[in-house]
Amino acid sequence: MKKAIFWRFVWIILLALAVSSTVFCVIISNRSLEQTQEILVDRLYMMDHMLDYNGDVEQQVSEICGIQGNQNSRITILAQDGTVLADSGVQDTDSMENHMDREEVQEALKGQAGYAERYSETIHKNMLYAAIHSENGDYVLRLAVPYEGMYTYLRMLIPAVLIGCAVALAASFYFAVRFAGSVTTPLNEIAGELRKVDKGEPEIFMKNYKYEELNVIIDAVNQMSAEIGTYVKKLELERIIRQEFFSNASHELKTPITSIKGYTELLESGLVTKEEVQKDFLSRIEKETDHMTNLINDILMISKLETKDVEVEMSTIQIYPLVEDILKSLEPMARDYGVKVYTECKPLTIRANLQQMRELINNLMVNAIKYNKPEGSVHLSIISDQEDMILMVSDTGVGIPREAQRRVFERFYRVDKGRSKKMGGTGLGLSIVKHIVNYYGGNIHLESQVDVGTTFTVRLPVIQERK
Ligand code: ADP
Repeated sequence: MKKAIFWRFVWIILLALAVSSTVFCVIISNRSLEQTQEILVDRLYMMDHMLDYNGDVEQQVSEICGIQGNQNSRITILAQDGTVLADSGVQDTDSMENHMDREEVQEALKGQAGYAERYSETIHKNMLYAAIHSENGDYVLRLAVPYEGMYTYLRMLIPAVLIGCAVALAASFYFAVRFAGSVTTPLNEIAGELRKVDKGEPEIFMKNYKYEELNVIIDAVNQMSAEIGTYVKKLELERIIRQEFFSNASHELKTPITSIKGYTELLESGLVTKEEVQKDFLSRIEKETDHMTNLINDILMISKLETKDVEVEMSTIQIYPLVEDILKSLEPMARDYGVKVYTECKPLTIRANLQQMRELINNLMVNAIKYNKPEGSVHLSIISDQEDMILMVSDTGVGIPREAQRRVFERFYRVDKGRSKKMGGTGLGLSIVKHIVNYYGGNIHLESQVDVGTTFTVRLPVIQERK
């Protein structure tokens, strides 16, 4: 690229020099020709004043030609009819043809200075002619000097033009090298920086250069690099979270499997003979199986919520029948725990995914019953606020200590692991709730006091219709 820029630069300079030199030479040559013509005419007027037309004109003409500086000139004096009266270049004027048809003579006779360039058959040279009409109007005076066209002046100009071109060319070589360098060096530096990405450095930072166009690229690359950096960090974090999740999930599954295996081995060994003990073992196996099923269901739910490209089917949901259905399924559990459930539910119509709404309300209600006290109560209220559905679940249970409140939405986090497990908890319920709330762009808020109770407030922008 450096070479290409260099040569292009040099070619442009050469072209510019050629064009400007040609134009310069043509202008100067034309100007010089004009000047020469003016000088010739001035001399002719001077001669017109000096000449005594009554005397020997031929003699006077040869005298004038003898003056220093006039030796190369040819002076011709013509009568009005074109007859040559005197010519400094020819001795025998009588033998000369009539000059009436000469271009410059014709012009002079019209009363203005006439000019011509041509080959003189008389003296066998290329000549530049100028002619005027004498002041008394009886004669035409003509002055000619050897003239080789433009070449006469080019001979003088060419050395100067060549020296100028050589200097300009040398300077252009120097500047072309510098300019090519100033363009390619930043590009090489940018390429070097970009190559770092290959070596596993996603975040690169490039300095600005003096060229605005390069800086536009650099700004875009810097911005992209910062975005890639953030994205890579996010991916790394997600990878860590996923790894943690799988190791926690397998650990959680291991415990019930170990228990089931233990009870099965004992039963198989024939050591347990008492029927009630056998029944107790079987019911424990069933409980562990239920726990595993819950765990697997919750894990599946979480992974479904995290798979962003899976389309979530939205439908119009009447909230009241849904709540009734959930409460009905929770009745036996509430009875077992000795907890009373109260509801205040407005008949709202929402647009959401049915399974997600069921999961959200169910998980909060199950927790409110599970972590309650005997004779305790749970209040469920669902109201609307403009586009939002506000769902509130309050209980009079054990409460959540302040330091744990922040963490209850984390996967597998439990305040009291023993209690949660005993109650068939998976540690994923609130994490699923949080995921669903985030999916709809809503928010969840928790207020709790140990031994007094807990209130979860969820706000979801899902209202389709209020009645
Ligand atoms: P789990 O399956 O253990 O109930 P969750 O994610 O639903 O898992 O809840 C996480 C933890 O938060 C629970 O183990 C429990 O310690 C605490 N928690 C959740 N809801 C309540 C509540 N209503 N009252 C007291 N503690 C609660």
